[in-house]
Amino acid sequence: MSIWNPWRGCHKKSDGCLNCYIHRADARKGINTDEICKLDRFNLPIEKDHKGNYKVKSGQLVYLCFNSDFLIEEADEWRGDAWQIMRERSDLTFLFLTKRIERFMVGLPEDFENWNEHIVVCCTIENQEKADERLKIFRTLPIKHKMITIQPMLEKIDLTPYLDENIECVVVGGESGKDVRPLDYEWVLDVRRQCVDSNVSFEFRQLGSTFIKDHKQYQIKRQDLCKQAKKADIDFRSTLKK
Ligand code: SF4
Repeated sequence: MSIWNPWRGCHKKSDGCLNCYIHRADARKGINTDEICKLDRFNLPIEKDHKGNYKVKSGQLVYLCFNSDFLIEEADEWRGDAWQIMRERSDLTFLFLTKRIERFMVGLPEDFENWNEHIVVCCTIENQEKADERLKIFRTLPIKHKMITIQPMLEKIDLTPYLDENIECVVVGGESGKDVRPLDYEWVLDVRRQCVDSNVSFEFRQLGSTFIKDHKQYQIKRQDLCKQAKKADIDFRSTLKK
């Protein structure tokens, strides 16, 4: 596993961004998250050692843009080069999340459809409004590997119109930190049921720091968020081979 951040910074875009961990972490360090900057290690996946071998070893999963949004407007001038780097490293798998799926086609290489087998795009939603807005667009895009991320989940969501055979997995989780919005386990189970009915893989990634189960509210410690989700043992693996 590897992380590649070709640029940093982001603007809050929708309700799900309210307690964005990047903004919170930057604020502690006195960094202005709204300033979008290209980073020194822009070429990380194609950097080579003194023997001429790639430093990022073949076969790895590369998390892309985890302190920005890959599709943010200010990066339009750099994204073409980032796509070319991904095209060159077809021996890696690249994965990014975005709340700006409506911008996916901006600057996309014309022949993208021919070489995106190693790229996974996660469309992020948080409520029904954003599900309807973003997933309608997501389903039309020429992406081979599509996932839906609902983190933080802010309300009960009906995903059924969007759970077709092109969606490989739905990931659900709550919000972490102080004074965050609650995640109701009923919403999680409801999305799981939709996934099972549509034979789409489902993963419960993490509880929220404020978590509701059977109408009771709990405060969950950060170190237990993922552990407790795994303990719930409700992940579902689709029988479709993807
Ligand atoms: S889009 Fe993502 S990175 Fe950007 S502000 Fe929202 S939550 Fe943070």
